[in-house]
Amino acid sequence: MKGTFTLGRIAGVRVAVHWSVVVIFLLVTVTLAGGRLVRLYPDYPTAVYWVLGLLVAVVFVASILAHEVAHAIVARRNGIEVEDMTLWMLGGVARLRSETPSPGVELRVAGVGPLTSAVLGVLFAASAVWLDVLAAPGPLVEAVAWLAAINILLALFNSIPAAPLDGGRLLRAVVWKFTGDPVRSTVIAAAAGRGFGWLLVAYGFLSILVTGTFAGLWMALIGGFLIAAATAEGRQAQLRGVFAGIRTRDIMTPHPVTVPATTTVEQFLAGAPFGQYRHTAFPVVDAEESPVGLVTVARVDRVPVPQRGSTSLAAVMAPIDEVTTAFPDEPVTDVLSRLAGAGESRVLVLDRESHALVGIVSQTDISRAFTWLTATRDRR
Ligand SMILES: [Zn+2]
Repeated sequence: MKGTFTLGRIAGVRVAVHWSVVVIFLLVTVTLAGGRLVRLYPDYPTAVYWVLGLLVAVVFVASILAHEVAHAIVARRNGIEVEDMTLWMLGGVARLRSETPSPGVELRVAGVGPLTSAVLGVLFAASAVWLDVLAAPGPLVEAVAWLAAINILLALFNSIPAAPLDGGRLLRAVVWKFTGDPVRSTVIAAAAGRGFGWLLVAYGFLSILVTGTFAGLWMALIGGFLIAAATAEGRQAQLRGVFAGIRTRDIMTPHPVTVPATTTVEQFLAGAPFGQYRHTAFPVVDAEESPVGLVTVARVDRVPVPQRGSTSLAAVMAPIDEVTTAFPDEPVTDVLSRLAGAGESRVLVLDRESHALVGIVSQTDISRAFTWLTATRDRR
């Protein structure tokens, strides 16, 4: 997903945060501290509202994180490595290193997310009741009750059978189970996602027209996001159908041109765009020729001209753990699902044993292979 920054690592998995989480974090703090809590319990010092508002926002983001970690744990238990996790305003996305092997696994991996949110919701609701019985301060009870409501809302929203929501994956698992066709099940779940997205957009704009306020804009925005994500998933599914049975080594460009990490931006640009520098992305290697990152012309271009002589490629490259990597014998379909939503749209292909760089897969490689495969298949 674009527009993210790294929060940290949980069990070796990179956790990234989309900017929309920052917005929702501030929104939660401000609506609680500046509105709801003050309105309901006006007699407390101002600091109490803000501390509570901040705490609730932190626990809310932690709840979303728990939902994602649950997906990751179940995926791992079923032998699927998790590439990374990205939190966004309505939950999160855990990117898996490979396709789910069966409808059963898909069902478990997708289902545990909403289940976790529902359990958290019930736990917070019970705590709120318990605090109320103990005659705890009103704002505290209200804050815990709010966390209960939002977690149950997360569980319900994510269960809607529309891709890319968890419910969309549940729908996919069910269709897959009955038709035995993983590609067609994705196409159906994606169509449901687009349909639901348009419904939200229509509802959002209609409510703006009817009520004359802009509250419906949120709904329309979420709808727009769902349509885009569902369309991308549908396209992915078609790609997967075409690339079935093809290995990464078959479509990669072998022996890519590499650049040393110590090269300055100025030295790098001196060679471009001619000869071997006619590409737009280059694997960056250390002194032992091991890949340490990926640098693109766009990244280099962001360095202001006066600093180009003193800035090394190591400083501007995407570090290796943020770059999609693959082994030569991996199915292209696995790599494609990993690539969807990655920051840089290239895959570095590493030797399974030595982790030495053996190739690169760019969008050009993918679309070229796609054209070949569809053209040659149509002629049969
Ligand atoms: Zn989920």
